[in-house]
Amino acid sequence: MLSTMQDDQLSLANLLRHGSKLYADSEVITWTGGEARRETYGEVGKHSAQLANALRGLGVTGDQRVGTFMWNNAEHLAAYLAIPAMGAVLHTLNIRLFPEQLVFVANHAEDHVVIVDGTLVPLFAKQLPEMKTVRHVIVANGDPASLEAPAGVQVHSYDELVSGQPETFDWPEIDERSAAAMCYTSGTTGDPKGVVYSHRSIWLHSMQVCMTDSMRLDQSDKALVIVPMFHAMSWGMPYAAMMVGASMIMPDRFLQPEPIAQILAAERPTFAGAVPTIWQGLLQHLEANPQDISHLREVVVGGSAAPPAMMHTFEEKYGVPILHAWGMTETSPLGSVARPPASATGQEAWEYRYTQGRFPASVRARLINDAGEEVPWDGESVGELEVKGPWIAASYYGGIEVDPDKFHDGWLRTGDVGKITPDGFLTLTDRAKDVIKSGGEWISSVDLENHVMSHPAVAEAAVIGVPDEKWDERPLVAVVVREGQQVTAEELREYLQDKVAKWQLPEHWSFVDEVPKTSVGKFDKKRLRSAHAEGKLDIRHF
Ligand code: AMP
Repeated sequence: MLSTMQDDQLSLANLLRHGSKLYADSEVITWTGGEARRETYGEVGKHSAQLANALRGLGVTGDQRVGTFMWNNAEHLAAYLAIPAMGAVLHTLNIRLFPEQLVFVANHAEDHVVIVDGTLVPLFAKQLPEMKTVRHVIVANGDPASLEAPAGVQVHSYDELVSGQPETFDWPEIDERSAAAMCYTSGTTGDPKGVVYSHRSIWLHSMQVCMTDSMRLDQSDKALVIVPMFHAMSWGMPYAAMMVGASMIMPDRFLQPEPIAQILAAERPTFAGAVPTIWQGLLQHLEANPQDISHLREVVVGGSAAPPAMMHTFEEKYGVPILHAWGMTETSPLGSVARPPASATGQEAWEYRYTQGRFPASVRARLINDAGEEVPWDGESVGELEVKGPWIAASYYGGIEVDPDKFHDGWLRTGDVGKITPDGFLTLTDRAKDVIKSGGEWISSVDLENHVMSHPAVAEAAVIGVPDEKWDERPLVAVVVREGQQVTAEELREYLQDKVAKWQLPEHWSFVDEVPKTSVGKFDKKRLRSAHAEGKLDIRHF
């Protein structure tokens, strides 16, 4: 028997209409380094309509892809709303991707238009000639004349293009299962992989983000959205905030501890989200420059493990609880949130809060061991985490080759290894692969190894992540020099300059006689890590 309920579609056009009308006075505040720019959600609605009209005017139709190469700001929010609401697909380009990967993702997604922040034009301009499908570039908050257009590409000023456009748009009815937005994730090997979110998945995810046991966002909140809109959809905060009328503070390019402290003092947000690196940096800044931050009712931390010591300092010294959460680009990204059971108090509650968190009703989870068997949720048995749910990816976009087991029998293999308590709290113990998490971004150890090993004097190179106070982890390269050859760490670092992004350049180097190997001849990074932890490696630091 079919239900008698309406089949109304969960579309971002409805979200935009709702947020901009019912919460017309809520604000998006963009930090500028000086006086903040303020826009009400009512104005966001009008600007989104103007942007949609402008994009239509450039010929954007159907599900064409519109890329953004932007910081978190009001213009990026308008793009987040206008592009999916008009039926097109928002593609958030990660400004930190290595140039070749940036070109790859723009071509793979077939971006037709890209909106670029003025300050990012120099970074974007170098790769634009290789982006084969881009016909229009819109420069926001900057001078379009600063971008030299290759043949066949028109460059526009955002302000000129958008101002004068009608402030309403006839938003189409959209099938909730159609693509709304896409984001590429760069893993250890191979090309970046595109995750395509639907209107439905974003809607359901936004509801979960706002729920009391998740981020608890509501209309009284002022959320400081530090986590980039080009990485895992800013943890879903922009859409969730629009849904409930929470105001947003966007830091634009001002992500260092000092400006973050200034934003906190000036705007007194009630909520904020960022990777541990940002909070560690802020803590150090506050040590030297004390300031009241107790207006923050809570901050959410994820992307890599939140160090317990940091959680304690925040809460006990500054009165700000940290909420630990786990997720990935493929999970929209909210996968689990560490709110302790109501009955837990004192240290018991802390123990729950250190974990990666408990799964919400829509996220099913299981742990699979090396033999391919499910292991029990007993808080001890370890396995690879697999998840399933309405905002979890079922495949990657456009035939990217991945391990065929990545999405087996309808579950996503996360590559994360851990254990789960009987009441559903996940603790990650390891990563199945050995990517290095630096400041919330991935560094592929395999990539670095391959580049170092391409040097003629190098026989072998293995890269591991070593703990770093500021960036969580930084790469350490263990190098075996070929017999009869000589090379210094300086020369190898120099050699990498034009091969990897600058922020990926390793600053720790160690020359070893051999890289420890596993029984099947693979680099044994576990042993390398222990050697490092035990201080057995002779390291040249930069
Ligand atoms: P990304 O898709 O770039 O957001 O990265 C997702 C990966 O980050 C996950 O698969 C985990 O390995 C890692 N990660 C995310 N949140 C946490 C967390 N709270 N603790 C430890 N690792 C995390």
